Amino acid sequence: MIIDFHNDTLTKIFDNNEDFFSNNSSLQIDAHKLSKVPISALFFAIWSNSFLSGASAHALVCDRLQRARTLFESDPHRFQLCRSYEDLSLAEQEKRLGVFFSIEGGNALNDDLSSLKIFAELGVKLITLTHFKGTSWATSDRDHHDRGLHGIGHEVVAEMNRLGIIIDVAHASKKTMSDVAKITSRPIVSSHTGLYALNPVPRSLTDEHLKLIANTEGVVAISFYPEHLTNKIDRDPASMKEFTKKIEAIDNSTSLSEWEKVAAENKLINEEYPLPRRIPSYELIIDHIKHVVDLVGDNYVAIGSDFDGIPYAPEGLEDISKITKLIELLHKRLHYRDSSIEKILGSNIKRLLKSV
Ligand SMILES: [Zn+2]
Repeated sequence: MIIDFHNDTLTKIFDNNEDFFSNNSSLQIDAHKLSKVPISALFFAIWSNSFLSGASAHALVCDRLQRARTLFESDPHRFQLCRSYEDLSLAEQEKRLGVFFSIEGGNALNDDLSSLKIFAELGVKLITLTHFKGTSWATSDRDHHDRGLHGIGHEVVAEMNRLGIIIDVAHASKKTMSDVAKITSRPIVSSHTGLYALNPVPRSLTDEHLKLIANTEGVVAISFYPEHLTNKIDRDPASMKEFTKKIEAIDNSTSLSEWEKVAAENKLINEEYPLPRRIPSYELIIDHIKHVVDLVGDNYVAIGSDFDGIPYAPEGLEDISKITKLIELLHKRLHYRDSSIEKILGSNIKRLLKSV
């Protein structure tokens, strides 16, 4: 049974008024598509918008968590909210789909450790420490100066360990990852990432940091977004130039606030991002899985689709209903055994859930 460690479906639902239960939604993950595949659980991320102030991000996340609970509780025969290994086991027994909540962006804490307890009580199982912008206590991979963990960062890690909230270092800077790995008492993860060895860009996970995560007994979940997986994207230079101009115009605007700029840019990316001339194949995901397995074995790799947070999906794996194609390809191309494929596509995350 398959577990997806990261998607942005809730953000699409709330921002674009998409209907999760419609038979013809434009979502990459919806109830109808999920009904076609052997998925056991998904981690639905609530995006905090790292450009919002702490107080606004906190309020946004709390509001969306409530709305997300209501959404899934409206169909209790199919969905079960989960916060533990035991919850997931029960959901599987009852043949319901396990729904975990995560938060993408530690600014939602509003620099207050007691927020973590509130989030845990609202059902949050995982927090991605940083998003596009760092917090006052952790540096992101896009920040200019890598200070790693600082301020209350160490206390945040200790409190997340104590409350059983999984620490996710996707989007974090190299030093933040190293600092967290050094002090955590529980496994840490990268919930949706590409690998530097195959795609040398700042967002990618280096072999060194991959090993640090594996050393904590954590997992590295491979993103499906082609641009996380390769820097060889064949795109028409003229339309890319045109698009970059529009992004720059938003960046340079004096009338928009920081977070209005992010919202405008997200909208532009969703609607006008120039697609590659040839969309890369989902075989890239298999290459990434192989690299992790070759480096540290098959206990530390998983999948984190990033569906509904990406402007386009790889060719062959356009939405969640095609997810079992990964099983076929892991068999056919890499000749992995069933037991290994089961770990990669789901049970490594189950093992992790037991130990946090
Ligand atoms: Zn992300």
